[in-house]
Amino acid sequence: MFHVKHPAVARRPPRVLGLAPTMAKTIAVANQKGGVGKTTTAVNLAAIIASWGSRVLLVDADPQGNATSGIGVQRGSFRRGLYHTVVLNEPISNIALSTSIPMLKVVPSNKDLAGAEVELVGLEKREFQLKSALAAVENDYDYIFIDCPPSLGLLTLNALTAAKSLLVPIQCEYYALEGVTELFDTLARLRRLHNPGLMIEGLLLTMYDERTNLSAAVAADLRDFYGLQVFQTVIPRNVKLAEAPSYGKPIINYDAHSKGADAYSQLAREIIHESKSARSGAGGAPVV
Ligand code: ATP
Ligand code: MG
Repeated sequence: MFHVKHPAVARRPPRVLGLAPTMAKTIAVANQKGGVGKTTTAVNLAAIIASWGSRVLLVDADPQGNATSGIGVQRGSFRRGLYHTVVLNEPISNIALSTSIPMLKVVPSNKDLAGAEVELVGLEKREFQLKSALAAVENDYDYIFIDCPPSLGLLTLNALTAAKSLLVPIQCEYYALEGVTELFDTLARLRRLHNPGLMIEGLLLTMYDERTNLSAAVAADLRDFYGLQVFQTVIPRNVKLAEAPSYGKPIINYDAHSKGADAYSQLAREIIHESKSARSGAGGAPVV
């Protein structure tokens, strides 16, 4: 069942009571493999959690700009985007745009951002540009989701340096696990060099097709190998999830009763509960 308001979130004390603002939990959605569901996951998690009343920022770190258009910001409708932040040091607060979901803002991107991969190379603190930019807005949001491009270039390294945790969508297909080892090698190097506290939020099985043995086999392999680091929620292959971006809508605004909306809502609940238990000292997801 899809619930529009998550009861645990709805019960949260309102901020007007003068409670200290919490720092955003920043989650990078990354996998250098293309087309595995990174953008679908970042857009829909951001939209669902914002619709439950948390303050959410979606950062489009991919020059393809799919998260930007997927959340309803049209190409050509903005002049400044993430490029202006990471290369030209413009404050995020000047760049972030409102969306159709009141609590959700987006830092948009377009093909200009491709230049950042080249232009950042010359900077001394090139992996830290996004982290510094987000530090200025950390108290303005509860969650920040960063949608990464399908590469392990400087934009992804910036995202992993800025993030508190990494969410890895993995498509249920034959070569699914190829690349995950390489991603985790990068993660280990990144922890050593730039971000020792980076956690694994979880590995997420996407585009699961219950009619095929292959999906079940990939899921079983992944759970054997990575155990509790794999989210319990599995995202099914669902045509509504594929259609929604062409209308510039997250799944909850396109078809709130679809299987895709149910699955992403369940994933959002897993993430919220995990952050709560981590904050209360019960520990977060285990690290690789
Ligand atoms: P890229 O590496 O190019 O950035 P990505 O990892 O961000 O890709 P998506 O853009 O989210 O992947 O998804 C790839 C394609 O699969 C898109 O057309 C998307 O609409 C579709 N898709 C994603 N998840 C699902 C799903 N669960 N069911 C059906 N289609 C899906
Ligand atoms: Mg994408």
